[in-house]
Amino acid sequence: MSGNAGARDDSSTVDNGTAGSARTDARRVVVVGGGPAGLMAAEVARAAGADVQLYDRLASAGRKFLIAGKGGLNLTHAEGADAFAARYGARQDEVGRWLAKFGANEIREWARGLGVETFVGTSGRVFPIDLKAAPLLRTWVRRLRARGVGFHMQHRWLGWCDDGDLRFVHPDGERHVFADTVVLALGGGSWPVLGSDASWVPLLSERGVAVAPLRPANCGFDIGWSEHFAARHAGHPLKPVVIEWTDSDGQVVRQQGEFVITATGVEGSLIYALSARLRDAIAVRGATEIRLDLAPGRDIRRLAPDLAQPRGSRTLSEHWRRHAGIEGVKAGLLYEVLPKDQLQDPARVAATLKALPLKLVRARPLDEAISTAGGVRMETLDDNLMIRNLPGVFCAGEMLDWEAPTGGYLLTACLASGRIAGAAAAQAPITQATRN
Ligand SMILES: Cc1cc2nc3c(=O)[nH]c(=O)nc-3n(C[C@H](O)[C@H](O)[C@H](O)COP(=O)(O)OP(=O)(O)OC[C@H]3O[C@@H](n4cnc5c(N)ncnc54)[C@H](O)[C@@H]3O)c2cc1C
Repeated sequence: MSGNAGARDDSSTVDNGTAGSARTDARRVVVVGGGPAGLMAAEVARAAGADVQLYDRLASAGRKFLIAGKGGLNLTHAEGADAFAARYGARQDEVGRWLAKFGANEIREWARGLGVETFVGTSGRVFPIDLKAAPLLRTWVRRLRARGVGFHMQHRWLGWCDDGDLRFVHPDGERHVFADTVVLALGGGSWPVLGSDASWVPLLSERGVAVAPLRPANCGFDIGWSEHFAARHAGHPLKPVVIEWTDSDGQVVRQQGEFVITATGVEGSLIYALSARLRDAIAVRGATEIRLDLAPGRDIRRLAPDLAQPRGSRTLSEHWRRHAGIEGVKAGLLYEVLPKDQLQDPARVAATLKALPLKLVRARPLDEAISTAGGVRMETLDDNLMIRNLPGVFCAGEMLDWEAPTGGYLLTACLASGRIAGAAAAQAPITQATRN
C-alpha cells in the first residue's frame, strides 16, 4: 500500500489540453487501461451517465489494438454461437454468457456505428473492409472524448492509497485519484512494449485476488535447429502443411495450415492454433513431438515409387523437386532430420515427408506471445465481473483467466467483457467497502 505523498487529482481535466467538466455529482468510474476492453467499458459507463475518467500508462490508447491491425484486424468471427464459445475451452460457459450479450453480430454493428463496415473472409474471420485498426480506433477515441470521457495518458497505476484513492505515477509525479467504482482493463503480459506489462499481478495478489499464473498463448516454440538450417530458412513460411499431434490420451489431432520457421523453432497461425495444448504438454512432459505432413494431398503409396525413379545425374534436391514437389524449406527439413545415408532411401524419404518428427522443447516467452493465458480467476468475480472481495472493482479483457486461439476470438471477448464491467461499474451500489 501507498504512502500518501501524491497530489489528489479530483478534477476531470483531460490530457489533450481541453478542460473537462469539473467534478459533478455523477458517479465517477475510473477505467484503468485504454485497450479495447477499457475503451469499451468507458463507452458503456459513460452512456449510462457516469463521469468516466480513463487512465493509461502509455502516451496514447489502444497501442496493441493498432498492432493487431498490422496484418489485417481480425475483429471477430462469423461462426455459430456454440462453436464460437467452444473456442474458449474450459471458460466457454463464462465467456459464452458475455458473448450472448455482445457477440460477433453486435461487434459488427458497433463497428458500423463508427463508420467501419466489415466483411467475412473465406475462413469465417471478420475484418474491417480496409483491414485496418487505425481508422476505427481514431474515430472511437474521438467519439469517446466528444461524449465526455476524460483521457489521462502516461499515468501508470500503482495500486491504492490507504484512503482508497487510486495511485498513479505520472512523469510530473504521483497522483491520487478518487473513484466511486473502478474498471481494471490492464491486459495480459505479452508484448509489454505496447503497454500490458502485467505489473498489476502483485497489486491484486497482495489484496487477496486469486490470479492464475500468466503463460504464453498463441505462441511459438523452440526446437533448436542446426546453425546451417536456421541461417538458411529462418523467416521462411511452410505451406501447405499438416501438423499431426497425439495428446496424452492417445487422441490424434490433425490440422492443415501454414507456419513460419524462426531462428530457434516455429511460429505462425497453425502453430498458434495448437499452442495451448502443446504448451501444456511441454509443461507436463518436458517436451512434445509434432509430425509434419509436408506433402498433404500426396498419397504415400504414390510418393515412394515416384521418389524411387532413377535419379541419373540430377542432385537429390532436384530429384525431390521433380518427383515430390519438395523444395526450399521443406527439402531443408529433410536434410535437418534425416541421417545422411537415409536421404538416399526413397521409402524412408517418402515416410518422413508424410510424418516428419519435430521435438518442441519450450514455448517462447510470454513477452513474445500474441496473447496471455492465466489471469484473474473467474471464481473471484461475480457475474458482473466485479472482484468479490474488492467491492466496486471490476475487471475486463485479457487480464482475466481465459484464452482463445487467434481468429477474432481475443478481441471479441475483450470487447464483450468490457461492456459488462463498464455497465456494472456505472450501476453497482456503492458501499463503504467500495472505497477501501
Ligand atoms: C501482434 C498482435 C496481433 C493481434 N491480432 C489480433 C487480431 O487480429 N484479432 C484479435 O482478436 N486479437 C488480436 N490480438 C490480441 C488483442 O490485441 C488483445 O487480446 C487485446 O488488445 C487485449 O485487449 P485488452 O484491452 O484486454 O488489453 P490491452 O490491449 O493490452 O490494453 C491494456 C492497456 O492497459 C494499459 N496498462 C497496463 N498496465 C497499466 C498500468 N499499470 N497502469 C496504467 N495502464 C496500464 C496498457 O498501456 C494498455 O493500453 C493481437 C495481439 C498481438 C500482440
